[in-house]
Amino acid sequence: MLRRYLALTLFASLSCLAAGPSIKVMLLDGQSGGPYHAWRLVTPVLKKQLEETGMFQVDVVTAPESTGDFTNFNPDFSKYQVIVSNYDAPEWPDRIKTAFETYMKNGGGFVTVHAADNAFGTWAEYNKMIGVGGWRNRNEKDGPRWFIKDGKMSSDPSPGNAGSHGARWPYAVKSEQPEHPILKGLPKVWMHHGDELYANLRGPGQNMNIIATAFSDPANRGTGRDEPILMTLSYGKGRIFHTVMGHDVNALSCVGFMVTFQRGTEWAATGKVTQKVPANFPTEKSVSYRVDLAEMDPAFKRVQGPR
Ligand code: ZN
Repeated sequence: MLRRYLALTLFASLSCLAAGPSIKVMLLDGQSGGPYHAWRLVTPVLKKQLEETGMFQVDVVTAPESTGDFTNFNPDFSKYQVIVSNYDAPEWPDRIKTAFETYMKNGGGFVTVHAADNAFGTWAEYNKMIGVGGWRNRNEKDGPRWFIKDGKMSSDPSPGNAGSHGARWPYAVKSEQPEHPILKGLPKVWMHHGDELYANLRGPGQNMNIIATAFSDPANRGTGRDEPILMTLSYGKGRIFHTVMGHDVNALSCVGFMVTFQRGTEWAATGKVTQKVPANFPTEKSVSYRVDLAEMDPAFKRVQGPR
């Protein structure tokens, strides 16, 4: 009897191990457009958030800066179900671009977080993957501005530079497709902890689904439009989740950012979402953020207080 018990226990332990982190993630970083995006601080928070779910095995891959030596940089995208980008570089060698395009066309997964949609302004295929982007000389030549008006995707082709934001205020995120797997079970409207609210993003907008928006308030240098906050896209057989949230560690500490990032990454990797919504998810009236995550920025303790 004892032997049978031990055998069952061993089997149970092995099953448990086999059910461990199963989705392989490449977390890509290595450059940002300026000191305002502290990518070295952002990466550990993104990694922790994915690993906490118990579903993801995360390898951080740090690329050279665009002007650096790429001779020995040969990321094997095909080893991963999803590539999460915290990387904002202006340019890549053609062979790496082609490898990434092939990976995506064959059914890869991609998640672009905040400033990763500033990257690669002139790489046409990348701009198809992200749908809309900002800065790095993007303007009317790259596509119209995209937003939601009267419940429908709308666009404005008039000239102007792509990308703007106001001060970092809390703002309300609204589900445009509450039944989408990434959003199902979340409040229809919830408050995001202080962050930049991107606006005037431009791009091809093909195969793009804006699943959540936020009102860009003219009182905070906004457009008066419902701007895209969360998007899903397809590229070939590949799936993309695009979140414009996440300027800094403070913004990343928002439970709403975290949960949509965790769920969006699972969706990009598998096409499904199996994660439950935590009880501390923000509501329509109040933000919810994790102090332990906010403290991963050394500056947090110096400025801590009501915000
Ligand atoms: Zn930013």
